[in-house]
Amino acid sequence: MTGMTKTCTSLRVPWLHRRIFGDYLNKFMREGKLFRRLLRELEEHERWSPAEVIEWQQEHLRDLLIEASENVPYYRELFREKRINVRVMNPLEVLRALPYLDKETVRRNPEAFRNPSIPRLFLRTAYTSGTTGTPLRCYRDLFAINFEHAMIWRQWRWSGFDLGKRRATLRGELIVSTAKKNPPFWIYSPAENRLIMSSYHMAPDTLPLYVQVLTDFAPAAIEAYPSAVYLMAIGFRTSGKTPPPMKGIFTSSETLTHSQREVVESVFNCPIYDLYGNTERTAAIGQCEHGTYHVFDDYAIVEFLPRGDGTHEIVGTPLFNRAFILLRYRSGDTAELEPRTTCDCKRPFSVVKEVLGRQEGYVYTPDGRAIGRLDHIFKGVSHVVESQIVQEDWDDVRILIVGDRGYGSADEKLILMHARERLGPEMKIRIERVDSIPRGPRGKFVAVVSKVSHDEWQKLFANKERGNTPWISSH
Ligand SMILES: [Zn+2]
Repeated sequence: MTGMTKTCTSLRVPWLHRRIFGDYLNKFMREGKLFRRLLRELEEHERWSPAEVIEWQQEHLRDLLIEASENVPYYRELFREKRINVRVMNPLEVLRALPYLDKETVRRNPEAFRNPSIPRLFLRTAYTSGTTGTPLRCYRDLFAINFEHAMIWRQWRWSGFDLGKRRATLRGELIVSTAKKNPPFWIYSPAENRLIMSSYHMAPDTLPLYVQVLTDFAPAAIEAYPSAVYLMAIGFRTSGKTPPPMKGIFTSSETLTHSQREVVESVFNCPIYDLYGNTERTAAIGQCEHGTYHVFDDYAIVEFLPRGDGTHEIVGTPLFNRAFILLRYRSGDTAELEPRTTCDCKRPFSVVKEVLGRQEGYVYTPDGRAIGRLDHIFKGVSHVVESQIVQEDWDDVRILIVGDRGYGSADEKLILMHARERLGPEMKIRIERVDSIPRGPRGKFVAVVSKVSHDEWQKLFANKERGNTPWISSH
C-alpha cells in the first residue's frame, strides 16, 4: 500500500477528483456478485464441446425470441406479419427465416427495439457512430452490462492478468481539458487500481512524460485503442527506455493494423489480445493466448455474410441483452474467414483469421497531438446520417455532415462543442452540410481523412526543440 501511495504522489495525481465516486459506483454495479457469477459461468463454457455451446445458444435464443415476440414492438409486428410462432418452431430456424437488420432501420427508430417491460430507470443508453459515422442509440440493462464486463475479463484472464492488478488505460476518456498544456494528463482510479491516461494529449513533447509515468506506475497490463498504444510504443522507442514487464496489451474499438501490432508487441515485448466488439453489442471476436481470433459464441450467434470480394460482413444476434433486442444485425464491419476450425487452446469457440472492420486515421493538432477515434464527437447527436472529418491543414478541420430532416442548429452546436473539447482551441473547425460523403479507395468509407501526413508528424520526434519544427513557426 505504501508503494502505491508513493507512486501516486510522484505522479501528482488528483486524488480528490470528482470521478472517484463514479468509479466506485461503476465498480459496485459492474463487479459485484452478478459479475463474478457470470465470469465463473463464462469460464466454464471454455471447457464445453462445440455441440454444448450450440445447445446453450439455442436455449438462450428461444428465450430471447419469446421476449421479442411478446414485448418488442418491431418484432411483435414482424412475427405477426410472417406468422412465426416462436414457441413451437426451432429457434435457429426462426432466426434463419428473419431478414437481416441494418443499422439505418435501428437508427431511425431505436425505440422499436427497446423492451418496454424493463423500466427505463434500469437502462443505460449508449451511442455509436459505428463504421459509417451514423449515430445510433442503444440500450442495455444491468445484466447486459455485467455480462459484457465478464466477457472482457474472461479474455483478459487468458493473459494471466487478473482482477485487482494494476492496469493503465489509454482510451477515449476525456479526463482533462484539451486546452490544458501541462501535466498531469492522467488520473489514478483507486476503485479499479487503474491509471487512466488521456489519449488526447499525446504529442512529441508530452510523450516522454507519458513514458515516465507509465514506467513509474508499472502496470501489469494496458487496455487501449490501437492508435493510442501505438503512440505510447513510439514514445518508448524514441526515449530508448525499457517498458515495465506486462502480461498483455488489450486493444479494442479500432482495427489494429499489422504495423501497429508489430511495433507495439516488439517495443513492449508482450502480446496483444485484440478484441472486436461494437457499441450495439452484437458480436465479440477476441484473440486467445495463441493469437487466434475466436468468435465468442456464448455472447452472440455470429453469421458471416459474403461481400463478394472474399471478405465477410459480421452479422450478429446477441444473446444476453433483453433490454434492446437486435436479431441478425449487420454491423457493417468485415472479417476474413479461416479454413481451420480449431485452435491449440482447445476452446470450443469458432475461429476467424482476422477482423478487418474499421480503420480510422488521426487528426493532428497545431500543438502536435495526434488524436484517433474521433467518432466520440457525434455522441448524443441524433440527426446525423453520415459524417466525415477532413483535416485540410495542421489547424484546419472540416466536418462533413449528411443530416436527416430533423438535423438542426442544436445538433451542430453539440458537434462543435465535442470537437472543440478534443481538438483544442487553436483548431479552425467548420461544419459543412453535404448530400453525400465521398468514398475512399475500393468504395470504402473513411471516417477521418487527414491531409497532414503521419510521416510529417513523426518527423517531429527527430526535432528535440519544438521551435525547430517548420509547421509550428509558420503558424
Ligand atoms: Zn485459441
